[in-house]
Amino acid sequence: MSLVISACATPLVPVRGSADAFPVRRIYCVGRNYAEHQIEMGGTGREAPFFFMKPADAVVPVAEGQTGTLPYPTLTADFHHEVELVVAIGQGGANIPAAQALSHVWGYAVGLDMTRRDLQAQAKKAGRPWSISKGFDASAPIGALTPAAQVPGIASAAIELRVNGQPRQASRIDKMIWNVAEIIEHLSAAWTLAPGDLIFTGTPEGVAAVVRGDVLEARVEGLAPLALKVA
Ligand code: MN
Repeated sequence: MSLVISACATPLVPVRGSADAFPVRRIYCVGRNYAEHQIEMGGTGREAPFFFMKPADAVVPVAEGQTGTLPYPTLTADFHHEVELVVAIGQGGANIPAAQALSHVWGYAVGLDMTRRDLQAQAKKAGRPWSISKGFDASAPIGALTPAAQVPGIASAAIELRVNGQPRQASRIDKMIWNVAEIIEHLSAAWTLAPGDLIFTGTPEGVAAVVRGDVLEARVEGLAPLALKVA
């Protein structure tokens, strides 16, 4: 059988310090996973984790030492950054218990869950889906992946975002409401995970808008930093 159109290319994320790449299957995202951000978005306390998705080709992979280009999207006047730890799944499964979840992780990267905040607010108010506010083109910039074995301290690492050199978001991974293992347990109860899946694990407080010309520098201690310029 031959294809009637060209098959789309599999999105790839570079692996730190090598010429290798990680092929992306799906992108899952966790909402409101840091207490202070949950409060700034109008939440009132711990709630079960909830998930949304971005298309795999929304990734904007940026190799270490490079400054990527982040296109300012259409239809928004409030384009927000959300710095997040990204988990890359190397071994799939369904109903994975938290105690075994970390053995399914191939590695980690720092990413940005870019958001059309004005459209998200409209969607929330109208009870409509978030796709247009979260799953648009180039909404998932991501830095180079680091194998999990190389970052044993990831669970308590610092996470931060600077815009034009000024601090915007700063927290620690251990301030997550649901940790990586718990996220995988909940997520794999709803979807069967597979190698190539990425999980954006939620953002700490301090989300705010960027404009054209801004330079974003996202870091998680121990991982390759991610740099981008908004165009
Ligand atoms: Mn987010």
